[in-house]
Amino acid sequence: MTTALITHPEGLLHQTPAKVHEQVGRLDFVLRAIEDLPLDRHLAPLARRDQITTLHDPAYVDHVLTSVPESGFAFLDSETDDETALSPTSLNAVLRAVGGAALAVDLVVTGKTKNAFVAMRPPGHHALRAAAMGFCFFGNVALAARHAMDVHGLSRVAIVDFDVHHGNGTQALLWDEPRALVVTSQQMPLWPGTGAVEERGAHDNVLNLPLAPGTGGAEMREAYAETVFPRLRAFNPELILISAGFDCHRDDPLAELNWRESDYDWLTRNLCAIANSCCAGRVVSVLEGGYDLPALAASARVHVQALLRAHADD
Ligand SMILES: [Zn+2]
Repeated sequence: MTTALITHPEGLLHQTPAKVHEQVGRLDFVLRAIEDLPLDRHLAPLARRDQITTLHDPAYVDHVLTSVPESGFAFLDSETDDETALSPTSLNAVLRAVGGAALAVDLVVTGKTKNAFVAMRPPGHHALRAAAMGFCFFGNVALAARHAMDVHGLSRVAIVDFDVHHGNGTQALLWDEPRALVVTSQQMPLWPGTGAVEERGAHDNVLNLPLAPGTGGAEMREAYAETVFPRLRAFNPELILISAGFDCHRDDPLAELNWRESDYDWLTRNLCAIANSCCAGRVVSVLEGGYDLPALAASARVHVQALLRAHADD
């Protein structure tokens, strides 16, 4: 048994405007960085509409499905943000990002593998119930959590979002979901501006961990060890989903944290260790952000290597 990799070449067909950091090259860099690793490779399937409407407004889902332009870009988000756009070849990428995360849950929960990495784009953790936001159209990870609960009957699914930006969409989509624990660490202050400690969810099921600009690996490790890990262990999850954004890296152009590759290794190993003690190691990690291409590639590689090593710990 080895780590599963779920991806699809159509993830490379989601074009974005030239000024947008969320570019095709991101996925290309990630896939090249892990192409020599002994992973069990799967093609991400298209999500069905009824999978997406478990958390998104049906009219919004139809709006996305019917907004694909014949040329150029179709901007879907609010008037103040012109960065979240569909290209003529985006739709299958959007649907496979959702479907790939759900397939990863299927593989892990049914015991076909212990953990999985979903390398797809666009990312998902800013998508709201009825709105696109921050490069995201649908909540890939939140939907995967619902898939684990609705299809596989899980009643305790933890999400850990270590992207540098607040996982505001995931938080909003699962705000009233007692079967989910949403943990999200983020630089504050930083776009989108939410993610304060006081935001706790309708059932005390959200844990926000704001990190000050300049936070490095040592402070991050202390904060996770003191705040996040005890809460995760107490929740005793049946599955851990990771929103794996690599934009906390010191080289990332969109934020001001100072993590290094070794910090992603440490965090991944610790999350896998908690999963080993709670739920037979079940971890599904899904790519979110990360915008310095070499840093993204190197960080994703050590992350996937740590997932692989979790098998060797058996
Ligand atoms: Zn981000």
